[in-house]
Amino acid sequence: MKIMKFGGTSVGRPERMQHIAAMVTKETEPAIIVLSALSGTTNALVEIGEHLSHGDKAAAKKNIDQLETHYHDFISQLVTKPEASEKAKAIVAEHFEFLNIILRISFSEALSKDILAQGELLSTKLFSCYLEEQNIDHVLLPALEFMTIDSNDEPQIGSIKVKLSQLLQKNSDKKLFITQGYICKNARGEVDNLKRGGSDYTASLIAAAIGASVCEIWTDIDGMHNNDPRIVNRTVPVEQLSFDEAAELAYFGAKILHPASIWPAQTYKVPVKLLNTMQPDAKGTLITEKAGSVGVKAVAAKDNIIAIRVKSSRMLLAYGFLRKIFEVFEKYRTPIDMITTSEVAVSLTIDTDASLNDILKELEPFGTVEVDKDQTIISVVGNEISRTESIIKKLFGSIMNVPVRMVSYGGSPHNISLLIPAEYKKQILQQLNKGMFNL
Ligand code: ADP
Ligand code: ASP
Ligand code: MG
Repeated sequence: MKIMKFGGTSVGRPERMQHIAAMVTKETEPAIIVLSALSGTTNALVEIGEHLSHGDKAAAKKNIDQLETHYHDFISQLVTKPEASEKAKAIVAEHFEFLNIILRISFSEALSKDILAQGELLSTKLFSCYLEEQNIDHVLLPALEFMTIDSNDEPQIGSIKVKLSQLLQKNSDKKLFITQGYICKNARGEVDNLKRGGSDYTASLIAAAIGASVCEIWTDIDGMHNNDPRIVNRTVPVEQLSFDEAAELAYFGAKILHPASIWPAQTYKVPVKLLNTMQPDAKGTLITEKAGSVGVKAVAAKDNIIAIRVKSSRMLLAYGFLRKIFEVFEKYRTPIDMITTSEVAVSLTIDTDASLNDILKELEPFGTVEVDKDQTIISVVGNEISRTESIIKKLFGSIMNVPVRMVSYGGSPHNISLLIPAEYKKQILQQLNKGMFNL
């Protein structure tokens, strides 16, 4: 069994959805197809939720109506036979009726998750409707029946495995399965999600749960590139990455993969392939245990970083100081990305300001606390790079004129991270492209 995940742009137009149907029916191996919402839909649903949370029902209604028109246009080109057309219209009507009902009830956090789930529910049902029209035998597996997270928002791989296996066994004569990416149920039994870009995570979790032969992530680019193609002009695909390298790149900002999407595949040793739906014959990127080669593979940038420095002479020769500082972040469930220390100060970074004020208040008794917002982490990733002298020379030689606030070196042999003010991001990515990759 293989997993094939198609992202928003891959299903975002009727002809693309039809193209995917043609692709998956060519498969000889049984497959689970994981679909994202049509591109733009989740952003629109986020906006609707925001309007409602501010009590602006008129603005929410306007967005709902616009989105509904978009879906009517979409299905009019997706399916043509009267029966399929009626069915597609009924699917769209059902989900937009739900959104319109929400307009009338009082808003809550749980309700906002229900709103967000509509995108993947719509895309998979419409895809299924098209397959039906084409007489392509398949089964729609509802993700909300098997994809669960615990009270720490961690996926419950054991239970996912049991529930999914049961669903597959019930349909053991079938070869093609369709399911929703991104959405899940939480510990309270409510509809929830795996955070933005979470369909990659769904695909990897399913691949791990069923021991898939491969987890294919089909997107709008031919694999992981050596640098962020949205910012740097000349970038090239990387043919092979190790799980460790891919996980670092995903975590430190390479948008092509959800930050947590590598660990399930890595833990259960399922190879991951990043492939281009618009160019199915392109090689893409293969991610396995093997790095393929030593040396720098790619650079990624993670935005909206906050740096916090705690300065205290009491730190000098003291033990237990760092533990007390870390406990504050643990209490507010805020992960720390980078950390550097000196005899009298510790600097660390976080990527959310959700509990920033509480954290700062609790850090105050430890010494002078300084905060820098709008920082960016630049990560240079590659097998054994921090042990390769020539790479380190090249790296520091190519970041001239950029004020570096922190350097993290040696924590992982595959990653060297730099913290810089966000306004230097484009410049440093370009300089690294030239200095490290000759591009
Ligand atoms: P999908 O909707 O298929 O999940 P995403 O938009 O989430 O697609 O991810 C693909 C996009 O990631 C690409 O179009 C590209 O702009 C962006 N991206 C950022 N960094 C990289 C990188 N290093 N390599 C490839 N793509 C990247
Ligand atoms: N539709 C969700 C999002 O836009 C999940 C995904 O596309 O992976 O974040
Ligand atoms: Mg994505």
